[in-house]
Amino acid sequence: MLGSLALDGYALVSEPDGADFVIVNTCGFIESSRQESKSVIGEMLDLKRRGRTRGVIVAGCLPERLGGAKLAEELPGIDGIVGVFARDEITKVADRLFGASEEQRVVFRPAPLKPLDDRARLRITPAHYAYLKISEGCDRTCTFCAIPKMRGRHATKPIEMVVAEARELAADGVRELNIVAQDTTYYGSDLYGRVRLLELLRELEAVEGIDWIRLLYLYPINFSDELIHFIAGSSKIIPYLDMPLQHISDSVLKRMQRRVNRAQTIELVQKLRKTIPNLVLRTTFIVGFPGETEAQFDELCDFVEETRFERMGVFTYSLEPGTPAVKLDGHIDEDTKNIRRDRLMELQQQIAFEFGDSLLGYELDVLIDSQSAGDLWVGRSFADAPEIDGSVYVKGTGLVPGALVPVEMEERRGYDLVGSALTL
Ligand code: SF4
Repeated sequence: MLGSLALDGYALVSEPDGADFVIVNTCGFIESSRQESKSVIGEMLDLKRRGRTRGVIVAGCLPERLGGAKLAEELPGIDGIVGVFARDEITKVADRLFGASEEQRVVFRPAPLKPLDDRARLRITPAHYAYLKISEGCDRTCTFCAIPKMRGRHATKPIEMVVAEARELAADGVRELNIVAQDTTYYGSDLYGRVRLLELLRELEAVEGIDWIRLLYLYPINFSDELIHFIAGSSKIIPYLDMPLQHISDSVLKRMQRRVNRAQTIELVQKLRKTIPNLVLRTTFIVGFPGETEAQFDELCDFVEETRFERMGVFTYSLEPGTPAVKLDGHIDEDTKNIRRDRLMELQQQIAFEFGDSLLGYELDVLIDSQSAGDLWVGRSFADAPEIDGSVYVKGTGLVPGALVPVEMEERRGYDLVGSALTL
């Protein structure tokens, strides 16, 4: 959307207060994200009422989830609504605010069979890293999840299109590609009739200028031995994998309809750890899924303790209208869910801290993200994905954002590390 607006002559400003108009690009994934989206829309409508902006446009998943009419009724004063797959219409909807177009103010499109072209982006992430989306939508049927309803069926972006986008990003200064999709390991299945993530990674590895390729949102199925060995031997695919597991109890996994069981999960984790040196594994779990017993939750805690994920996130189960899990028996009260989340996160905190301590004294390459103050910089090692993991504070002179520098790790502060740059 930003790329389209820029091509059509609109300029991006850093603050909504005083902007000609505001676009709120929303999330509609779970109740808490919908509330957050609505609260930001409310703030922007308040700016409009105070005459600090002329219009508010809402885009993204929240309108897809609620429908345009319901959203407009809940939050009166919205000037335009643009669905996920109507993003190319954003300029026309914006033009309408200034009387330059008589286009509709609410635009939705069905999910296309082929993902939209993401080239010609105007990125607001730092210049040296980018998210690269390789497919859109999801064909799985996890009973708690509303994403396929908003994002449609899985649609693979063709290999040549992804590579062209990666080249464009590299030419624009990107050194770290964060590969995303709703289901990264399913890549290729719909378009080519078979999984082709390995072939895609081979092509991406050859893109000049890219130093790190980080794989996110890997469903724990479709990991061929060839893929695992390729990741292990790659000079650019860093040993960091984000693989959401959601649970480990067979009974819970079955009710979640994850189509992977405890034994298969453990076998896969062991194989990954054995084959990929220094692997950092991130995962996500849901606690308080309908019918989750104390014993099943304890089983999850034991699994976390044994597996020692370097990075982990925990969600409490969110009841999502329209999903099959709503109809399951044994819905759990919010207090119990919160207690379970806190217990699991407490357990994980110790594991994450011990992992941080294990890096002290070692030299790791750090990608500098920004200057903190004077000769103190903020960056990330291979073990830290942008925005979700911790940071490395680097002491050094003459550094610049986007530099990849060797750093000796000296101290741990919570989830962050502190070290000194060894060169420059
Ligand atoms: S694989 Fe992920 S996006 Fe797809 S249905 Fe399951 S949780 Fe949702």
